[in-house]
Amino acid sequence: MNRTWEVVVVGGGLIGALVAFTLRRAGARVLVLDADRPGAAWRAAAGLLSPDGERLAGTPLQADALDGLRRWPALAADLERGSGASVHLRSGVRRLQRGGGAQVTPGEGTLHPPSVVRAARQGLEVVPARVYGLRPERGSVRVQADTGEWRAAQVVLAAGVWSAAFGVAVQPQQGQALLLRHAGPLEAVFGPSGRGFARYALSRPDGLYVGATARATWAADPDRQAARWLRGATQQLVPGAAQAPLAAHLVGLRPVTPDGLPRVGPHPALPGVTVAAGHGRHGALLAPVTAARVLSLVQAQVSS
Ligand SMILES: Cc1cc2nc3c(=O)[nH]c(=O)nc-3n(C[C@H](O)[C@H](O)[C@H](O)COP(=O)(O)OP(=O)(O)OC[C@H]3O[C@@H](n4cnc5c(N)ncnc54)[C@H](O)[C@@H]3O)c2cc1C
Repeated sequence: MNRTWEVVVVGGGLIGALVAFTLRRAGARVLVLDADRPGAAWRAAAGLLSPDGERLAGTPLQADALDGLRRWPALAADLERGSGASVHLRSGVRRLQRGGGAQVTPGEGTLHPPSVVRAARQGLEVVPARVYGLRPERGSVRVQADTGEWRAAQVVLAAGVWSAAFGVAVQPQQGQALLLRHAGPLEAVFGPSGRGFARYALSRPDGLYVGATARATWAADPDRQAARWLRGATQQLVPGAAQAPLAAHLVGLRPVTPDGLPRVGPHPALPGVTVAAGHGRHGALLAPVTAARVLSLVQAQVSS
C-alpha cells in the first residue's frame, strides 16, 4: 500500500486537473492519478468557450455555461500565476451567416486546452497510473491501480468517458479535428449553423485548428473520411489554409451522458467517491463550475 492522501483524483484531464488545482488551492493534499489514455478528450479539444455556439441556448446547461464563461478570466489568471505559462484565453467569436455576413459575439472566447491542463498540473503530484478498483473501506477508499495502491479519505472520479468502468452512465462521442501549419490572426470562426456537425476554425499556439466530427464509437484512431470532411470545412472557413500542411490529426472521446447533463455529485454506490464526469462537448467551458461544485462537496464530506 502506498501513502495515504486526503484526496485522490482519478484522471488528470480538463476536469480532473482543474478539480485538483482548485482543491489544492483550498488547502487539500491532492494526488492525481492519470492513465494517459489515447483518445483523452482534452488533447483534441478546440477550446471554444461558446455558450451560444453548440446549441446550448435554452437548455438546462445554459446557466452553468454562462457561469463557466464568467469564471474563466480569474481562473486563467490563477493558472498563469501558478505556472508562469499562458493558457491563451482570448475573447471574440465570429459566426458566418447563411447568405454572407458575420455576427461577432465579443463575450465568448477561446483558450488552449492542453496549456490549461499542463498549467493546472504544475505544482500537483501527478502519478502515471491506470486505476481499476475503488473499494470503500472503514471510512476511506482504497484505490487500486496498475502501478500501485493508495488509500484516500476522498476520491474524485474524473476519468472522462472511462468513468463508465465505475458505473457512471457515460458513452463516447468521438471527435476528430485537424491542426494545420497556417499562421493568421484569425479569431474563432463558426460556419453557418445547419443540420450537420458544427464547423469551426481557430488560431492556436500549435496551429490552425479546424473541427470537428462526431461519431458514437470507442475508436481513437484518425480516419481518411474525417480528414476529407475537415479539409472541406477548412476550404469553407479559411480558404487560404485549404492546402496548408498537416501538423496533427487529433482524435478525442467526448464523455456524453444520455440526457446531455454532466454527472457531478456523490457516487450512488461508492461512499467517499465524488463523480465529476460526462461533460460531453463542453468540458472546457464547464470546468470552472464543476471544480467549484466538487470543492463544496468534498468540503461538506470532510466537515460532516
Ligand atoms: C474534437 C473535440 C473538440 C472539443 N472542443 C471543445 C470546446 O471547444 N469547448 C469545450 O468546452 N469542450 C470541448 N470538447 C470537450 C472536452 O474536451 C471534454 O468535455 C473534456 O475534455 C472532458 O474532460 P474530462 O477530464 O472529463 O475527460 P478527458 O479530457 O478525456 O480526461 C480524462 C483523463 O482521465 C484519464 N483516465 C482515463 N481512465 C483512467 C483510469 N482508469 N485511471 C486513471 N486515469 C484515467 C485519461 O488519461 C485522461 O487524461 C471537445 C472534445 C473533442 C473530442
